Amino acid sequence: MNHERSRQLYDRALSVAPGGVNSSVRATMPHPIFAERGDGGHVIDADGNRYIDWVMGYGPLLYGHDLPEPVEAAIQSHTAGGPMYGMPTEIEVEHAEFVARHVPSVESIRFVNSGTEATVSAVRLARGYTGREKVVIMQGGYHGAQESTLVEGTSDSAHPSTAGVPEAFAEHTLPIPFNDVEAATEVFAEYGDDIAAVLVEPILANNGIVMPVDGYHETLRDLCTDHGSLLIFDEVITGFRVGGLGCAQSALGVTPDVTTFGKIIGGGFPVGAIGGTAEIIEGFTPAGDVFQSGTFSGHPVTMAAGKASLEYAAENDVYDHVNRLGRMLREGITEICAERAPEYTVVGTDSMFKTVFTREGPTSAADCCPAGCLQDPECGRYGACPKTGADVAAAETDRWERVFWQGMKDEGVLLTANQFECQFTSYAHTEEDVERTLEAYRAVL
Ligand code: PMP
Repeated sequence: MNHERSRQLYDRALSVAPGGVNSSVRATMPHPIFAERGDGGHVIDADGNRYIDWVMGYGPLLYGHDLPEPVEAAIQSHTAGGPMYGMPTEIEVEHAEFVARHVPSVESIRFVNSGTEATVSAVRLARGYTGREKVVIMQGGYHGAQESTLVEGTSDSAHPSTAGVPEAFAEHTLPIPFNDVEAATEVFAEYGDDIAAVLVEPILANNGIVMPVDGYHETLRDLCTDHGSLLIFDEVITGFRVGGLGCAQSALGVTPDVTTFGKIIGGGFPVGAIGGTAEIIEGFTPAGDVFQSGTFSGHPVTMAAGKASLEYAAENDVYDHVNRLGRMLREGITEICAERAPEYTVVGTDSMFKTVFTREGPTSAADCCPAGCLQDPECGRYGACPKTGADVAAAETDRWERVFWQGMKDEGVLLTANQFECQFTSYAHTEEDVERTLEAYRAVL
């Protein structure tokens, strides 16, 4: 495969952009692949190479690169009057009404412009609402580029995970291992009266996919209720992907106080949102006293794209299709792994999938199956499933990036370049895409 033009563009970009990219994960080795255009479930790069694209923009592209006609029409009609106004529009009210109708935790919602902005605002809201400062997060969870969550370590010794974040932020952040009921109980026993919120992805989706074990989120729900803390589900990835229009919270049957959204809710345009009970969300200015504002928030084109995307999903077999392809991929890759790399573990649910290059093979299914996570019941490999972020970090992460990802790319299949971020199916992908992808897995593994 020739990548000459991508290499040249990267060379130019390095002179004018830090690391040559605008988001760190795009700096794949030996150089980023520059996109030229999309075509259904495929993407064509700047050198004309075609790939089956399972990155899907890191999650927003429920329809792949071709939008359904009504979504396209909604976008066109909302660009016709000019790009934006700085005044409220009907479409943002309609979008809010749609989300409130479908997502159990949402009565009221504030739209913002990115997942990061959503989680930053949600944490500020929780602190303002409770009058407390501490936030519990999961080790290996990701909530965007925000000071309060770019923190690692343990609840007793947290420290910033990047330069530029003051230690003072880490003092108010309590990282605990995901799926560990005891750790959650202990952190509340020690800091309960100071905890403003638990911020958690229902499924760790930036960490090789870690499914929740049965009862974990119920425990978090009870602890928060008992201590007057808010439970915030970060559904930036899982929102409108896992559990269909009810999101992961409806699949889990656990209702958080606040939900953050991003990605799919904007139909492929920059977006974020914070939803919850009216009582809590009305803490935001101008209704309440927690400052929140944004020039582009509720952008009419984003609102039109997001609302039309969700409406189309409500009226068509979108979730059946993407979830069926997700299952075909998980089952197919599981079979290939059994033959070629039995220690590796296939994880995911609905339209999400990932292979974790675990070093240890499956233990007994009984170790895990009764835990009853949302995994496909047919999987049969639960024993090896990661339970925490650390389990994924202990996998063969270099092998994914340096060998496997490169090999798949050469076979014309684009996956996320690191072991941690997951893959997505879209409405535009076909069974043929799945079959060709499985052939590539067979060859490269
Ligand atoms: N929360 C989660 C769970 C995410 O996966 C992401 C991004 N991948 C974010 C927040 C941040 O979203 P954004 O990149 O739109 O700022």
